[in-house]
Amino acid sequence: MLASSVRRAGSRCLVRQRPACLCTDAAGGAWDYDYDVLVVGGGIVGAALACKLAEIPKAGGSFKIGLVEGRAPPTVADVMARPTPDARVYTLAPSSVHFLDSVGAWAAVAPRAHAFSRMHVWDARGRGALRFDARTAAASASAAAPPALGHTAEHTALQAALFERLRALHADGALALLCPRELAALDFRGTEREPPGPMRATLSGGGSGGGGGGGGGEQVTARLVVAADGGASKVRRLRGLRSFGWGYGQRAVVCTVALERGGDAATAWQRYLPRGPLALLPLWDGFASVVWSTTPEEAEELKALPPGAFLERLNAALRGDAAPPPPPFAGIPLLGAAAEGAANAVNALASLTALGSSGGGDGSGGDTAVVSPLAVGLPGPRLGFDLSLAQSAAYTAPRVALVGDAAHTVHPMAGQGLNLGLSDAEALAAAIREAALSGGDIGSVQALSRYDSDRRMRNAAMLGGLDALHRVFATGAAPVALARNAGMALIDASPQLKAAIARVAMGV
Ligand SMILES: Cc1cc2nc3c(=O)[nH]c(=O)nc-3n(C[C@H](O)[C@H](O)[C@H](O)COP(=O)(O)OP(=O)(O)OC[C@H]3O[C@@H](n4cnc5c(N)ncnc54)[C@H](O)[C@@H]3O)c2cc1C
Repeated sequence: MLASSVRRAGSRCLVRQRPACLCTDAAGGAWDYDYDVLVVGGGIVGAALACKLAEIPKAGGSFKIGLVEGRAPPTVADVMARPTPDARVYTLAPSSVHFLDSVGAWAAVAPRAHAFSRMHVWDARGRGALRFDARTAAASASAAAPPALGHTAEHTALQAALFERLRALHADGALALLCPRELAALDFRGTEREPPGPMRATLSGGGSGGGGGGGGGEQVTARLVVAADGGASKVRRLRGLRSFGWGYGQRAVVCTVALERGGDAATAWQRYLPRGPLALLPLWDGFASVVWSTTPEEAEELKALPPGAFLERLNAALRGDAAPPPPPFAGIPLLGAAAEGAANAVNALASLTALGSSGGGDGSGGDTAVVSPLAVGLPGPRLGFDLSLAQSAAYTAPRVALVGDAAHTVHPMAGQGLNLGLSDAEALAAAIREAALSGGDIGSVQALSRYDSDRRMRNAAMLGGLDALHRVFATGAAPVALARNAGMALIDASPQLKAAIARVAMGV
């Protein structure tokens, strides 16, 4: 039955309302494939990728894209009517906003997105603080540098906007939107030989036209299956691609809070507490998103607190002496003393440099006092997410490519996971476009090899950096804490270094 959906060119397409595409494989053999690219997973990454692929000129009208998503997202109208922001929110780098704009989705997100121009990061166990300002980063960046450090936007607003665009592309015949439909099975026999045979996928659910009611599901063939199906990727598992990593033993409590009126809405706040980072990210209309990473036990306790008690804990954690300064280091007295001496020297030097560079050099005035806005309301639920790091050993195999969380997951402390995923999508779309326009086989290892090595290397660097940061902030040992605070003071006093760090986070 599987083979019936792959026919020699010229034979009738078996799947109704889904004309097959005529593709020539590397050996010159011609097959009717149901899809050139079948994207599995319509989260933000998969949906944006499908929109971008729809731009590829259809040489001879034969480039066919399908997007499979298991859960139908809300419409833009539904999302716009919601009076408060949803709990699941992302900080988006300007490069991600630019990409979403390029696929025609940002205009629908913009009314519920919020730009922030400052970021304040500080350590609860010491005086170390880092202040970033978009103006400083922009002054040292190219003329095209954007005016915001980033935007915050809700998952539902982003997904609804992308699906509005996908529905329009589907109506125009530019792609097939298969939703709600799930990938149930993959048959990759024959994809390893030269030239590779087609990837066969079984889709289930969705009812009409899809064979979902038949029990066996609908079988389709593709030249390339893209895994955009998240951290627990079924495509990755079925294809046997191994993923390496570890859990952090941390859980993030995520929710929306209402801030006291008149507070600072331009700054994103992050405080490193002894059990993990706590972020307060400004949203539209005086709301903010909380991402509180901590032990699973404390996370459950925080989720179970009555709203008033939760807000009290939150404000105390952000504003109070949530953690005493690091204890004296008893292990190696000389080392502890040396570290403290070095920290004091660096702090003194940093203060002098900050004064000399006109008040901190970033418009923050060199003021070390930290007062984040007060959270006064809890309008929605508190969600919990277990935190882990993972990286797939390979991002591609014959007829398969991984993007987004299917390829890697990172600690959310720097808000980079989705941003990395969107960069994957942009790079993979470019590789597919290049291969398609030059008449190559878009699902071959050769066509995908640069995507695999480039993105895996770049993401590994970010994963490694964030993991190191996590470890530096996770330790309470006095020498490390002192060195950490001294390092923060030193960086904070260097506008050039801060601008460079900000530009990496901004993706410019
Ligand atoms: C607490 C927390 C905070 C975060 N904050 C940020 C942030 O501020 N900025 C940032 O850049 N990143 C952030 N991230 C990371 C971000 O959430 C992820 O990197 C991002 O959601 C990954 O998107 P994705 O599209 O790859 O996967 P997902 O969002 O997981 O989407 C996968 C999609 O595939 C579908 N699917 C799965 N299996 C199948 C199947 N068999 N058939 C059909 N469809 C299927 C699912 O329904 C889903 O829609 C955060 C993560 C956490 C945990």
